[in-house]
Amino acid sequence: MKAGYAMILKPRTKPLELERLEAVQRRLHPTHPRIEDIESELNRQQAGYNGESAIDYYLTFLPSEHYTLYHNLRLHDGRHFFQIDTLLITPHVLIILEIKNISGRLIFNSFSQLERETSEEARAFDNPIDQLRRQQTQLTQFLKEHTGESFPVDGLVVMANKNAPMKVVDNPNFDKSKICTRTALVDRIQKLEKSYAHHQIPAKWLASLSPLLLKRHQELDRDILNRHHLTYDEIIKGVQCLKCLNFDMQRLKQRWQCPRCAHVSRDAHHQALADYNLLISPRITNQEGRAFLKVSSRYVTKRLLQGYAVAQKGKQSGLKYILR
Ligand SMILES: [Zn+2]
Repeated sequence: MKAGYAMILKPRTKPLELERLEAVQRRLHPTHPRIEDIESELNRQQAGYNGESAIDYYLTFLPSEHYTLYHNLRLHDGRHFFQIDTLLITPHVLIILEIKNISGRLIFNSFSQLERETSEEARAFDNPIDQLRRQQTQLTQFLKEHTGESFPVDGLVVMANKNAPMKVVDNPNFDKSKICTRTALVDRIQKLEKSYAHHQIPAKWLASLSPLLLKRHQELDRDILNRHHLTYDEIIKGVQCLKCLNFDMQRLKQRWQCPRCAHVSRDAHHQALADYNLLISPRITNQEGRAFLKVSSRYVTKRLLQGYAVAQKGKQSGLKYILR
């Protein structure tokens, strides 16, 4: 018999927030006063996403077809949203993985903080074990509310960065068993599952999980310009040249050409319209399209928008193209 592998019921995709940060970084002038904030948030989110993707590789070694995986779940417990990096369903217990990608020397101190020391700075983070416990409580509550059942929920904090030595200082009650490195992950998951071997989750309960989790998941979807006190006017308009990165590609017959480096592209407007969708609105009129793409012809804009949009709504000057 062929050995089975864990089934991924919700794959990991690049978070909308990260895509929005990339788009806003691309379209802000490099000397803009908010660029530093944007870039530091972008770097943090990118590191998180990289760490999670690195862990996904180790999870492919889980040697059993009766595991199912959900990546990046965001659920509401009745009062607050909570986010789970990875949820692993086993027949005995539900396991939350809280994935951390923090570099430097990591110290779990007596104030229940995680300190990070690098050559440049010392910084404190929330203790990831506390975060994990909170998620366990919220998931238990969520499942109780929607299924009426009490599922066993446990978890692990996974340190994704291999260049981050860890140390516990003045913290005698620290629960080391909750923290694991990426290489130990599969082994630790199996040990954790084994400790619940006496407990079998009824097949009927397990079957109810997939439709519930997928239906209730809600990706974080926030207006990034508002959040960073930016206006439409501060966003660079135009179609970007992917070679020299300037924003003044010109529309010639059937193609875009960069006046600076002569690079030619047929579909350079796709990125511009994706950026419009991420930053401004999922709907665009012909007039808005002309202003954003910096194309003067109404007819050319119409063809570009028709070719890219997934649908159209309204009539004549009120016609809007739906970008997603
Ligand atoms: Zn160019």
